[in-house]
Amino acid sequence: MQGLHLTADLYQCAGDRAFFVDEDALAALCRQLTEQSTLTIVGEKWVTFPEYQGEPGGVTGTLLLAESHLALHTWPERAGVTLDVYVCNFSSDNSAKAQLLIDGLIEAFKPGQVQRNNLLRGDEHGPVGSGELLLENLNQHAVYGFRFPERLLAKQTQYQYLELLDSPELGTTLRLDGCLMTAENEEFFYHEALVHPAMLSHPDPRSVLIIGGGDGGALEEVLKHDTVQQATLVDLDGDVIEVARKHLTSINRGALDSPRAKVLVGDGAEFVRTTEQRFDVVLLDLTDPETPAGPLYTIEFFESCKAVLKPGGAVVLHIGAPFYEPEQISSMLNKLGTVFEQVSPFGLHIPLYGAYWGLVVVSDSLAPKTVAAEVIEQRLVDRDITDLQYYNSEIHGALFALPNYYKNLVPELVTTEA
Ligand code: SAM
Repeated sequence: MQGLHLTADLYQCAGDRAFFVDEDALAALCRQLTEQSTLTIVGEKWVTFPEYQGEPGGVTGTLLLAESHLALHTWPERAGVTLDVYVCNFSSDNSAKAQLLIDGLIEAFKPGQVQRNNLLRGDEHGPVGSGELLLENLNQHAVYGFRFPERLLAKQTQYQYLELLDSPELGTTLRLDGCLMTAENEEFFYHEALVHPAMLSHPDPRSVLIIGGGDGGALEEVLKHDTVQQATLVDLDGDVIEVARKHLTSINRGALDSPRAKVLVGDGAEFVRTTEQRFDVVLLDLTDPETPAGPLYTIEFFESCKAVLKPGGAVVLHIGAPFYEPEQISSMLNKLGTVFEQVSPFGLHIPLYGAYWGLVVVSDSLAPKTVAAEVIEQRLVDRDITDLQYYNSEIHGALFALPNYYKNLVPELVTTEA
């Protein structure tokens, strides 16, 4: 059982056109490279697909090997190929032969770009770790991941692919379009950091707006402040809210149905553009810029958020991982600096996001670094906020004490007075 599974996805291929559309030519190439690698062919099957949009169809083929298999699919209309070589290493180690075969095929197709994966399969001592290993990109070259023994739910909503997974460490975890959003055992890192620094720097936050945040975690933190008379949450995707109501109550503790909460389904940009309401704090609890939330990371949107702030109000948002996405952090802080007088970046390590994660409070007047720990402490007491797992009056200052590599991303903007 144990073996090595190599895959390669080839893009912008410049190899011989015959390899894409002529199954005899492709079969001959595969046989030749397989024999050169000294793997053993025990059977084969080839299929040519019908014409597609006036283009000849691609070819699907497999060579059955005594050591397992070679499978490939060509996509002439996209100059693409998917390769798959799996060898078992039961009686001997065939890894080098598999590598030789897939390298020979890649060379023959001459791709402009290649995405490779190497999987160790069927460990002789039983499963390595428990559950499905899900990886997430930190940037183009770095990934991190968690194992999830159980998949509780998966559905395509109108806007995104929604999954609920379960892990002994993280608990029930929400994932949208392959990105980890929040997890019941770990959500306090992000939600407490997103909400409390700004809310406690503000002397009397009564009206709060949350854009996104359909899991209800940020809303639950906002409602801990007894100064808040109404919190409005606007999430694009009603399915996220419904799944959160049913399956994420350990995160939102029913906040989505609080009498002090107004929960709306809609586009946050549209809401901010049209609302007559005004807010002391606006929290942007959105998916990343490369998702339907993209337009909510623009100067225009930041200006429209500023327009709905009451005097002394602030906006808070997450901006990415300073080490892995320095350009995104710089550009975001620069954009915010053209709209707001005070730009107060902060950060903390967020286990679920696999990195030290940047957030920022922006305002024309509120600067959290200037609010002393004693004031924060008193406001926690006055507002009777006791059940926090991450944030406290000392952490408040620590959050805004930036490592130099982060501070240096936009030195002229970082408000440094303490
Ligand atoms: N804590 C998470 C994070 O930091 O990555 C965000 C969690 S929350 C689930 C993200 C939400 O943003 C999603 O529910 C998604 O539907 C919502 N969203 C994306 N684009 C939006 C838009 N244009 N208006 C309102 N909500 C939006």
